[in-house]
Amino acid sequence: MDSFFSATYSDARANFLEACLSAGVPVQTCRHPLKGPHGEGLATDLAWIGPRDAANVVVIVSGTHGAEGYCGSGLQVGFLRTPEASGRGEDQALMLVHAINPFGFAWMRRVNEDNIDLNRNFVDHQGGNYPENDLFELLEPHVVPRRWEEDEIAACAEAQAKFAAQHGEVAVRQAIGKGQYRHPDSVHYGGTAPAWSNRTLHALCEGWLGNAREAVMIDVHTGLGPYGYGELMTPRKPGSHGYDRPHELWGDEVHCTTVGPTAYAGSPGSILNGFRPNLQDLSFVAVGLEYGTRERDKVRRAVVADTWLHRYGDLDSPLGRQIKTDLRDAFYPEESAWKAKIWERGQDVVQRAFSGLSTER
Ligand SMILES: [Zn+2]
Repeated sequence: MDSFFSATYSDARANFLEACLSAGVPVQTCRHPLKGPHGEGLATDLAWIGPRDAANVVVIVSGTHGAEGYCGSGLQVGFLRTPEASGRGEDQALMLVHAINPFGFAWMRRVNEDNIDLNRNFVDHQGGNYPENDLFELLEPHVVPRRWEEDEIAACAEAQAKFAAQHGEVAVRQAIGKGQYRHPDSVHYGGTAPAWSNRTLHALCEGWLGNAREAVMIDVHTGLGPYGYGELMTPRKPGSHGYDRPHELWGDEVHCTTVGPTAYAGSPGSILNGFRPNLQDLSFVAVGLEYGTRERDKVRRAVVADTWLHRYGDLDSPLGRQIKTDLRDAFYPEESAWKAKIWERGQDVVQRAFSGLSTER
């Protein structure tokens, strides 16, 4: 099971492609125009397990947030190596989209080549009517310190605490997390046009799901929640298909990120909110599967440090290397116990999806 998981983007890609070859399944490769930190080629790869014209499809996406890709990649390799683990039945297919943000995966960044948080990029970019985030405008000078030194980091935290006293802690956290469209070198930037990964996800889904009647997409993330537990989530509200269908498949385990107390920012530009293949006859629903790693403050600090590093710092310095090591650990605990939990939960989630999909609707 440990061998499902890889140590670098290149290893993960080689592992995935090798498993595809052994399984004898069709693969489509979309090459990314840029290179990795060691000059390695970058690509998003798709594998299809099952009948090409299957009516019901489960789609697993890895690496939306690049540095979180190790987890989803491990799951995908697991399902290629042990196809029976998915519980796939007749007239069902499993579609694996490996490393949808290959640049972020290879460079150990949550964001893409343009510092875009892909999960804030799925908004309507026509006309420039981006979601407002006024509180972020006030907070922005206090999000990323000028120097990565404890006194400046503490000054930022103090300034944010003052805003929290005035606006509420949740409001401040959500303003920072939910996405912003004016500061290309700050956190959770959504971009000004559909990113390469956004366009690629459309092209792959529209190219492969044209024969399907229903597809359920599982977008795999890490960094929030209890260690090793995979929380299913949707931002859709009760009464909508996006809420009701996941609840039919997985019951009350599905957490709604927009109703009641929540740790999530509820971004309008997330895949879950903003992505749908342009296929009229397809019944489509997407959920997040968020696996916990380390304590929230540690993960948050690692993301800000990485943003600082790419804005002001030197990747090729002891501090730069330490920040990358910390970021990796924040999103990918390299521990067998963690990987075992990932795989166990991943099988359970996918098996229940297939079992629910088999019901005629
Ligand atoms: Zn994520």
